[in-house]
Amino acid sequence: MIDEESDLRLGRILLTREKIAGRVREIADEITRTYSGQEIVVVGILKGAVIFMTDLVRCVGNEVDVRMDFMSVSSYGSSSESSGVVKIVKDMDTYVEGKNVLIVEDIMDTGLTLSYLRDVIGARSPKSVRICVLLEKPERKKVENEIAYRGFIIPDEFVVGYGLDYAGRWRNLSDIWCVEEGRRGP
Ligand code: 5GP
Repeated sequence: MIDEESDLRLGRILLTREKIAGRVREIADEITRTYSGQEIVVVGILKGAVIFMTDLVRCVGNEVDVRMDFMSVSSYGSSSESSGVVKIVKDMDTYVEGKNVLIVEDIMDTGLTLSYLRDVIGARSPKSVRICVLLEKPERKKVENEIAYRGFIIPDEFVVGYGLDYAGRWRNLSDIWCVEEGRRGP
């Protein structure tokens, strides 16, 4: 967990933009094969998943009828660790009964946020609900979620870039970086 009083610096690059782009194309190919000839509602979880989602949907083949929607959730507690109590800040606009839903999230840490979202969306009688995460930290997992599409498994380090932030910063970085802590001076 990151202490919010700390002064954070970018440390080292964990995943380069080239590596991310290659994996995004592979996942999009799998999605194309799975949903060929069907409609999917791709639900991006704001704000962290936006960059991943927009890259991903552009690589999905035209044989899939892709719709885009967004949800925003907030976790009670500190900004860097999920408490498991999740509030929907913005719900999606789409009526998903009878539809294929693909939840796109930036990172699965404890898994509590995705578990909650799957339950909420699953209760709306969709045809299917699958989860796509760019990053997964298995060491921190508290609940099991079935992940249909996974970008990378990463160690238990706090990462930023490619949509992921720390206190609103660094979402725009093209690579994914580890951050380093250094005590804030007087
Ligand atoms: P979970 O409910 O799986 O514990 O929490 C997932 C959320 O925690 C992510 O959507 C993200 O907002 C935040 N999170 C967890 N680990 C990291 C990390 O390494 N970097 C950033 N930027 N956010 C993280």
